[in-house]
Amino acid sequence: MDKKDMNMLPLHSDSKEKSSFSPKMEDMELDVHAEQNTALRTYAHLMLEHVPVGTALFDARDLRLLAANSRYHSFLEPTWQHGDAIGHLLTEVLPQTERSEIVAIFRRVVETGVVYRAEEYAASVPGGGVTYWNWTLEPISENGQMGYVLLTMTEATSQTVARKSREQAQTELAQTYRAVELERQRLEYTEAILLSMQNGSEPKVLAQAVLRALDACFSPQLLALYSTPPEQGTLSLLASHTYASRHHKASVFPPFLSSPSGSSALQVMHQHTPMIKRKSREMSKNGCRERDALLSLPAIECVMYLPLWEKRCEGVLVAAFAREEEADDLLVRTLSECASHLAEALAAARLHTTIADERQRLHTVLDQLPEGVLLVEALTSKVEYANPAAAQLLGFALLQLLGVPLNQSALLSPYGLASQNQQSAFRWNFALIHALWGKTTRGQELSITRPDGSEIVVLSSAAPIRRANGLISGAVIVFQDITALKQLEQQKSMLFAVANHELRTPLTTIMGFADLLQFCPPDGANSRYQYAVTNILQECEHLTQLIDELLDVSRLEHAWLDLQRSYQDLLGPLKQLVTKYTHTTRTHHLRLTLEDLEPTDLLMGWFDLPRIEQVLTNLMTNAIKYSPVDSEIEVGVRPYRNAQSTAQEVLIRVKDQGIGIAADDLPHIFQRFYRASRLDQSISGFGIGLYLTKELVQGHGGRIWVETTKGEGSTFFVALPLGRNNLS
Ligand code: ADP
Repeated sequence: MDKKDMNMLPLHSDSKEKSSFSPKMEDMELDVHAEQNTALRTYAHLMLEHVPVGTALFDARDLRLLAANSRYHSFLEPTWQHGDAIGHLLTEVLPQTERSEIVAIFRRVVETGVVYRAEEYAASVPGGGVTYWNWTLEPISENGQMGYVLLTMTEATSQTVARKSREQAQTELAQTYRAVELERQRLEYTEAILLSMQNGSEPKVLAQAVLRALDACFSPQLLALYSTPPEQGTLSLLASHTYASRHHKASVFPPFLSSPSGSSALQVMHQHTPMIKRKSREMSKNGCRERDALLSLPAIECVMYLPLWEKRCEGVLVAAFAREEEADDLLVRTLSECASHLAEALAAARLHTTIADERQRLHTVLDQLPEGVLLVEALTSKVEYANPAAAQLLGFALLQLLGVPLNQSALLSPYGLASQNQQSAFRWNFALIHALWGKTTRGQELSITRPDGSEIVVLSSAAPIRRANGLISGAVIVFQDITALKQLEQQKSMLFAVANHELRTPLTTIMGFADLLQFCPPDGANSRYQYAVTNILQECEHLTQLIDELLDVSRLEHAWLDLQRSYQDLLGPLKQLVTKYTHTTRTHHLRLTLEDLEPTDLLMGWFDLPRIEQVLTNLMTNAIKYSPVDSEIEVGVRPYRNAQSTAQEVLIRVKDQGIGIAADDLPHIFQRFYRASRLDQSISGFGIGLYLTKELVQGHGGRIWVETTKGEGSTFFVALPLGRNNLS
């Protein structure tokens, strides 16, 4: 049979009709019918050719292709596209990949007689790619027998691909939306939790605020926040929150959470990531025995343990939930992000508590001091702290001082006292204000008029308080009442004045008569007489010198000691003085050394010569007094230019081989009335010689210092400025 004819619908009945062919009347009718059939076939063929679907008719017995329109052919592989598939079995025509599945479908339709419909059936294209098909298989029965299977199919690749990509875009959009929504919620929660951390610098208050915020966000069954005290390895409960407490029911906070020894909370302290325990998993892991104490509670299915790390593990947050899915990504991400902030806040609160404790300790100590102590804050210049002694000394109640700014302080306007009082109060404030500007004052005497009008004198020291970065955060003033001391000093000065007069008058008389006895000795005066009179005169001179020194001290204290300086040479008088001493001193070997100097040189400067001689005499007398008989004492003079200053100076050196000065005495020897502690009591002295010497040297703009070794000797150095312009 011609292949083209196969495109006509070949009905089984046709073949039967052909087999009962007859040339009679019926034959004529048959001819008419045959013509009609042919026309019908042609019509059917044309109709099938024009339907927009691929159509193919298969023999139900062997699935051989009996007829198909050209659209169907176009769906086949290129080798079958020109109608060549007609008469071939379905298995031959189908591509290898789909063959078994499609044949199975055909067979099922043949066997069951049930129409099969496939939508967007995916068929893989050899060489890659997928095409989608909508196809239907309809069984056609003939004489009660399954005769044919009619296949109709259209390609739906472009629609399917478009639909699929539309659906995928929708899914992606929904996912993005969900992610954005989740992110928004996470940010909202994070913000709420972070904001809650601003509440309170005290750890427990902070913990409660944070738990409240967490509760509002995640509604867990139970929340507990622990801190790690400095002794690592323990946890102490800061705050807890339970579902029951939120709903004002009796608390079901398990007692074991107060001291979570051996719990998962302790384990998590040693790791940096949260630990989530779920009842279902823990049960299957451990059989029926549940190790996590919280999970053993019936209302709890899941627990999150979050370690809070800053530089160290500052604590652990525990959140327990009624359903496992509550410990979701949102919870884990939000809490993990907040963990470091919470740790930081806990560390700050811990530090704050430590500082508050330290401050309390300090205040307790300061409260006991007999000296007045006042602290002022730089930012507000308010009195931040005053101890009871300060209030008592200033004559105020503590509350009148505390928290009051300096410029409004009662110190400035004490009950509207007279202006004199306000001035003294101002002086007082001034020391603090100077300290706030960064100036330190030490040992400043201030007279204060108290609100009741009484006056006291205080010795005050004020200093700025600086932070680590150098900024001034406040100022402190410490003061002690020296009124009694001042009165004593006044009495002492009066005593000096009286003693000076009362001692000098008889001394002058004794010296006058002793002089007379020395120059006009009575007849028969022997050498013992002469020795006695000389001794009287020497001791009188010593006494006079002592009285002079005491007077000088008294003058210095009242700033009455005036130097009469004039521009003159120092070397000549120094040489004369040392030479005179060399001749009169019999016990020691005194030697003058001039370095870098000729005897005729001049050392010009502004000097009060008698006072400079007093300086040198003091140093030479001490050298003699504190060194063994027969030892050598050297007085050296040399021009000097020290490393710091470019100014010319003269350096005078008095060196002995005496007892030296102990290290613990050294800082004090230039103080008034100070004598070395382990001094031989037979060596006389008042302890004012070096004090006066230092004052006189400094009065000349000079410096004095000592180099000494205990038991080996001392060298005192005096540097005095030279030059016409060096009037200091
Ligand atoms: P004093 O009248 O006691 O000598 P000074 O003021 O002159 O008083 O000296 C104070 C103290 O310094 C002395 O008591 C002594 O201990 C010590 N000192 C002074 N000069 C010397 C020295 N050259 N050698 C050892 N110690 C000395």
